[in-house]
Amino acid sequence: MNTTAQANRKHIVIYGETNSGKSTLFNSILGTETSIVSDVSGTTTDPVIKSMELIGYGPVVIIDTAGINDYSVLGKTRMEKTKSVLDRTDFAIYTINLSDYDCNEFLKFKAEFEKRKIPYMIVLTKIDLADKEAVCEFKAKYKGCVEFNANINKSANDLKKDLIKRLSEISDYETPLIGGLVPRGSIVILVIPVDSEAPKGRLILPQVQLIRDCLDNGIRCIVTDEIYLKETIEECKNVALVITDSQAFKVVSEIVPKNIKLTSFSMLMARQKGDIYKLIEGSKALKNLDDGANILIAEGCTHNKNHEDIGTVKIPKGLMKKEGKNFNFDFVNGHDFPSDLNKYDMIIHCGGCMVTEREYKNRINKSINNNVPITNYGVALAYISGILDRCIEIFS
Ligand code: SF4
Repeated sequence: MNTTAQANRKHIVIYGETNSGKSTLFNSILGTETSIVSDVSGTTTDPVIKSMELIGYGPVVIIDTAGINDYSVLGKTRMEKTKSVLDRTDFAIYTINLSDYDCNEFLKFKAEFEKRKIPYMIVLTKIDLADKEAVCEFKAKYKGCVEFNANINKSANDLKKDLIKRLSEISDYETPLIGGLVPRGSIVILVIPVDSEAPKGRLILPQVQLIRDCLDNGIRCIVTDEIYLKETIEECKNVALVITDSQAFKVVSEIVPKNIKLTSFSMLMARQKGDIYKLIEGSKALKNLDDGANILIAEGCTHNKNHEDIGTVKIPKGLMKKEGKNFNFDFVNGHDFPSDLNKYDMIIHCGGCMVTEREYKNRINKSINNNVPITNYGVALAYISGILDRCIEIFS
């Protein structure tokens, strides 16, 4: 379980005012002293992130955020970071110290959770110090609140049990990477070029996940590079689909006979994580971009860049060459994603193997709501290579 990627774990995020017992609760759930606990307001600055196995539920990520009422100079930046975590929150815990809390801040966050359809739990902390009548009143007004006393082991155990129950009630359906696209028993070929961008001695996450998804869905997969692809196809009968690294689209599409469907890892990842249909729709704007258009290239992780880097080199060069125009490119990675998208005419996002489904979908929806077309690397590269229609046929 410890090897489950963070992007595949439910993200449980603890919010609350400074000194409301967030870090104590975080440590109690983890059973460690990961987050520094202190009575000094604002002890937690950047979000503290830990992966854990929540026995009885499964692998999760727990995030402790900075207090929402930190009015210091640095507090504004911390608050922005705390708010940006909302984009990847699958389940929220809001801590309240009834002896000292701001009801308006609580109601603002409560409304935000509800607007974003984030299931949440209100935890009344430092309950041993709270006025009993105030506790009863609050619990009567906000049903389902949980009391928490950090000094009593049973309290932490009860809270974890409640948390597990509520997490189990969240729909856990995950769109498969390939399951459902080809029948069980089919043969698919995965083309994995071992070029200067390939990490030494291992496969990258989307490739590993796709092999596992094939096994989960009774699909037989054969792995090769582009050099042995022709022979591999000739030796196999009834290949249902070839899946390639998007960067090898051009050479692979020339090798794969037209009667065999073709797509990319990135497109399958977008099907699972986001909404492949919206990303295909967004790609229609690529051909209408004006000279000087502003394009945002977003990646879900940071990695070393080289002269063949897909996001910073291949896509910008390929797109400008295809359209015969000059474009301006901005690049963001990891959890950074601009809050103001107004200056952009197009967004091209990576496959997003390192971001959660919720975060990926939030980015797609935010772009569409701001009237900025969004597509992904695989779709953009298929467009640049002139084989988009062929590569999206499998999704129709
Ligand atoms: S750039 Fe995107 S698709 Fe590539 S490894 Fe990072 S998160 Fe995954």
